Amino acid sequence: MKATRSWAEPYKIKMVEPLFMSTQEQREGYLKEAGYNTFLLRSKQVYIDLLTDSGTSAMSDRQWAGMMMGDEAYAGSENFYHMEDAVRRYYGYKHVIPTHQGRGAEHILSQILINKGDVVPGNMYFTTTRLHQELAGGKFVDVIIDEAHDPVSEYKFKGNCDIQKLQRVVDTYGAERVPYICMATTVNMAGGQPISMENLKTVRAFADKYGIMIVHDMTRVAENAFMIQQHEAGYSDRSIAEIVLEICSLTDAATMSAKKDALVNIGGFLAMNDPELYQKASNMVVVYEGLHTYGGLAGRDMEALAIGIGESVQQEHIRARIGQVQHLGQMLREAGIPLVLPIGTHGVFIDAKRFLPHVPQDAFPAQALAAEIYADSGVRTMERGIVSAGRNLETGAHNFPELELVRLTIPRRVYTQAHMEVVAESVVSVFEARDKIRGLKMIYEPTYLRFFQARFEPIQ
Ligand SMILES: *Cc1c(COP(=O)(O)O)cnc(C)c1O
Repeated sequence: MKATRSWAEPYKIKMVEPLFMSTQEQREGYLKEAGYNTFLLRSKQVYIDLLTDSGTSAMSDRQWAGMMMGDEAYAGSENFYHMEDAVRRYYGYKHVIPTHQGRGAEHILSQILINKGDVVPGNMYFTTTRLHQELAGGKFVDVIIDEAHDPVSEYKFKGNCDIQKLQRVVDTYGAERVPYICMATTVNMAGGQPISMENLKTVRAFADKYGIMIVHDMTRVAENAFMIQQHEAGYSDRSIAEIVLEICSLTDAATMSAKKDALVNIGGFLAMNDPELYQKASNMVVVYEGLHTYGGLAGRDMEALAIGIGESVQQEHIRARIGQVQHLGQMLREAGIPLVLPIGTHGVFIDAKRFLPHVPQDAFPAQALAAEIYADSGVRTMERGIVSAGRNLETGAHNFPELELVRLTIPRRVYTQAHMEVVAESVVSVFEARDKIRGLKMIYEPTYLRFFQARFEPIQ
């Protein structure tokens, strides 16, 4: 499957949405109103939106046609069965429960499996995943390899789990205090870095030895499969669909934010093989999301999701998707911008510590850099650093993560190569004037997931 020709978008454009242009002066006003938090800007104030790849994909004509086939029955919608078929066929899990998005699945799973005092090891935290583990009384322990915390290590599988760290968790707390191991494909907070099949097999053997479940955060499983196909020995002749199925077969249950890989604007699910876990979860979903055959989704959303799952594992789709991300990363790398390497699958992550070495971490360098890029060009990015890392629940102090990043996340099938060029030009001009960036002061801090709604002021 090694390609010999350039990638190009495997689709043509049938409908367009005009973009909004603004002046630098206007953008400075918008930023002030938004408390220097790109999450608080209005979408209309944004030119190229690289805030997130979540729910921002362009759906295909087939998905839109599927939307018209919505069976909006309260119970037993036909679209649910299409979705269930797609999950079984492409991911291999026996049971599926729809949820409104990924965190709905995380909530239900955490409440069922985690008891107070339990410990959940994972290949780096994700914001909502860890919060649901903590709200259920658990403690997250990071067991990702050290390379993942090092932005300049070019190791190909920085999403891998360090088995010695995993062993230490079991030795310290006892296997009975570990309800499951959480394995993400690819690791968002590490910069979109994949896990290798070999590593996942080792985690499987470890889990079997101690009788521990593996829960798969499968938000970007097709992207991870592409990296295995391209870089792991023995996989170059395997299709993306085959690799995805093999990854899933090494795990027991999964939470999915279908807003990413699966090419829909809203939706998610919880999947599992164990019938008892399915029974508990399908009872709990009625409390928080909706009946187990819709879980907070309209019939039409489930149809679009069923179709999107099939499209997400197509070779040409995934090759162009990751090709576009790599193209942006390559342009920035050649211009000398400090990045997390290797370039990941869903976005390009700028290393704000090296971009702004004169700004201390508690002056929120990544947050300040995201604000500055927006002011320069109207390109919206987001912080993945100390603001996202939140506070230590016991001491109340900031968590100081190794990685202080600005994420340029690429929506699927939305922007063109020319957009990527404009983005690169803007980042380069901010880099040239980086000495004048001073950092920010937080003036409002919400209790949960503070990065979404915190407000800031520039340090004078
Ligand atoms: C987005 C995401 C989630 C949460 O999903 P939502 O649909 O946003 O609730 C969980 N894990 C990872 C890795 C994600 O990227």
